[in-house]
Amino acid sequence: MTQLQSLRGMVDLLPEQTCRWQAVESLARQHFQRWGCREIRTPMLEVTELFARGIGEATDVVGKEMYTFQDRGDRSCTLRPEGTASVVRAALQHGLLAQGSQRLWYSGPMFRYERPQAGRQRQFHQIGVEWLGVTSAFSDAEVIALAWDLLADLGVDGLALEINTLGTPEDRQVYRSRLVSWLEQRQDLLDADSQQRLSTNPLRILDSKHPQTRELLQDAPMLEQSLAAESLSRHQAVLQGLDDLSIPYAVNPRLVRGLDYYGHTAFEITSDQLGAQATVCGGGRYDGLVQQLGGATTPAIGWALGMERLLLVLEAAATANPSGRAARLVKEASPDVYVVNRGEQAQRQALVLCRQLRRAGLAVQRDESGSAFGKQFKRADRSGAAFALVIGDEEAERRVVRLKALKSASPDAGDEQQQDWSLNDLSPLVDVLQTGVMPDPVVGT
Ligand code: ATP
Ligand code: MG
Repeated sequence: MTQLQSLRGMVDLLPEQTCRWQAVESLARQHFQRWGCREIRTPMLEVTELFARGIGEATDVVGKEMYTFQDRGDRSCTLRPEGTASVVRAALQHGLLAQGSQRLWYSGPMFRYERPQAGRQRQFHQIGVEWLGVTSAFSDAEVIALAWDLLADLGVDGLALEINTLGTPEDRQVYRSRLVSWLEQRQDLLDADSQQRLSTNPLRILDSKHPQTRELLQDAPMLEQSLAAESLSRHQAVLQGLDDLSIPYAVNPRLVRGLDYYGHTAFEITSDQLGAQATVCGGGRYDGLVQQLGGATTPAIGWALGMERLLLVLEAAATANPSGRAARLVKEASPDVYVVNRGEQAQRQALVLCRQLRRAGLAVQRDESGSAFGKQFKRADRSGAAFALVIGDEEAERRVVRLKALKSASPDAGDEQQQDWSLNDLSPLVDVLQTGVMPDPVVGT
């Protein structure tokens, strides 16, 4: 029989990786809590109309990338390609906005039918924040600072923040017609994709990766020249906020985000470690979306970071600096203690001992092989535990367990560093295991 495989672009996360993911997720949670963000969890499957209306029919995501199907009740359903539209839908559905502004965060899998490559999958994962009902330019700077500080705390370097303003819908209307008439005169020089976008989504042409189109765009009219004075001063205030927070940035007038709902601030954080898929985090202001989905006019801003790309950056940082913060973060957690046991009585006692230690809160690995002590000790060393607890027939007879500092954790530990501890009252032993330090010999030796 042929071995079944996961679908193309759908990736398993194995235990070695999930421990890294958990470390990132738990750090992100801490940051969200400090920044006053509360978690929201929405379904992965939504009615297709949500994304068609929310993201925009003319975008790549909706036009080309969605997993859409009819369910058994003949409704058109879509696996969410991003989180923002769902979060806004949920906030509206449950009247969250009536309770005032909302600082929300989410995480989970997203689905886009794209060509898989490094840092680009069909099921991928995002962590994101959505701040609904926040107006001021300070909020823009603040939400960017949240992403920046989280990434810095992960210990990754080589990050760059690019920022732009897309102005108001009116500004973009003015710009759109200027850009289109300029491009129409040069239509033959555009790549096929961009020619098509000319009628559907001309601003996205600015974002084209096609070399010849990029070259042409060097001389194209800039959005900045079409911005109203208030849009410009708002943008200046955001940049001022970033200056005040000492967050370095580059203004990139060509940065337009792929989704329709953005206006004013748009930004991306890129890494020099990622090659073509360089964007780790993208976000911006989307003041029109809540209204577009049937709510009252509600200004909002958010970002999403791609977990897979973040992990690639983190692993690169860990390799570059094995004693740095990123390396500590990606390191797999070791058990507190490895239990070496051999002989029938000893193994029975070990079974009970392990459970008692776990109930006391310790991470315990029990060797279940029954093999020679030498082999078990090798595995104990490899486990990374600070201590081994050893029970053989002789210890079982005396109802004691032998505590041994492991070389992997304390390289200068010698064989003399062994002590017997009574199995009749475990609390002194638990104390030792919890502190992780071998005490001076007291009980036997
Ligand atoms: P790109 O230009 O790389 O396609 P995007 O603009 O489509 O990115 P967003 O919709 O802004 O991406 O999503 C935010 C982040 O999610 C991206 O910066 C990236 O880190 C991640 N991301 C997006 N699509 C994928 C994917 N197919 N696989 C892995 N990560 C992704
Ligand atoms: Mg994309």
